[in-house]
Amino acid sequence: MKDSLYDVVIIGGGPAGLTAGLYTSRAKLKTLLIERMIMGGQVMTTTRVENYPGFPGGIEGPELMVRFQEHSQEFGLETTYGEVENLRDLGKEKIVTVDGEEIRTRCVIVTTGAEPRKLNVPGETEFTGRGVSYCATCDGAFFKEVPVAIIGGGDTAAEEALFLTRFASKVIIIHRRDKLRATSILQERLAANPKIEILWNHTVERIEGDAGGVKALEVRNTETNQKRSLSMEGAFFAIGVIPKAHFLAEVLKLDKDGYILTDAEGRTSIPGVFAAGDVRKKLLKQIATAVGDGAIAAIMAEKYLDEFEE
Ligand code: NAP
Repeated sequence: MKDSLYDVVIIGGGPAGLTAGLYTSRAKLKTLLIERMIMGGQVMTTTRVENYPGFPGGIEGPELMVRFQEHSQEFGLETTYGEVENLRDLGKEKIVTVDGEEIRTRCVIVTTGAEPRKLNVPGETEFTGRGVSYCATCDGAFFKEVPVAIIGGGDTAAEEALFLTRFASKVIIIHRRDKLRATSILQERLAANPKIEILWNHTVERIEGDAGGVKALEVRNTETNQKRSLSMEGAFFAIGVIPKAHFLAEVLKLDKDGYILTDAEGRTSIPGVFAAGDVRKKLLKQIATAVGDGAIAAIMAEKYLDEFEE
């Protein structure tokens, strides 16, 4: 790896990165995909994916991502694991630093995605892993026949609330407004589930517990400001995501929320560096749009390399 010059280095192994890798390796570009932890990205923590075309009846998130990975490697995509620390632009060449090692490449596609946002209330860090979780699919089964809360009102909160009803005695969705952001099909399923209750216009102010884990959540009514305590053994946060682009803050142009700014074709502020998927500022974050983004960035990288050779 050390002495090679790659045509393309892809940072991140979610749907956007794996799609970009499929396209560039199939186009015979020497491509290395670097993943920090587990291939598949956020979809690995999703239960059933019902809106990715081609899978009527849905498919489990991890199963879909294993297929993505196998498919991307059919054309010779190289993969490695490590944390990318830095990216340097030397014009025709870029240097990607991974765990202290420098990798030379002509193009980079950033597909690092996003991670769950923290609420930053007292008790949240202290009880993470002991009742506080950011992934119902990963931790839900630990909460059998006990009441749990989901904080948030988007698609993730709705899907995770429905998933948690398999285990918990009761699932309370705590939402700061009086209207959910989740799509209507999910809202209908929430309404039809007798284990689910929605606490409208409330925020979580504090998480309380003891050596055994979470015991209660202090919530505040946003209209009356009144506080009260809810007995609860689990607090699942689903309050959106933050882009994983902080390591590039001094290299690429980001927006105020930390998303990489690109044009419609995934070009960033540096020629030869592209971004695709949830790390890029865009309207819709779906597996389908990440796949589209990954394909576009790969084709743009190919075009960029062709132009250099002319
Ligand atoms: P999201 O759509 O951004 O929703 C975040 C929710 O958390 C919102 O309801 C928001 O409230 C609430 N929230 C944010 N900050 C908060 C705070 N400080 N305190 C209390 N509540 C707070 O995030 P998401 O649900 O994780 O979804 C992310 C993206 O992935 C979306 O584009 C979503 O459509 C997509 N997604 C799609 C699927 C699917 O298609 N099956 C599944 C999961 C995710 P407000 O509503 O008041 O802003």
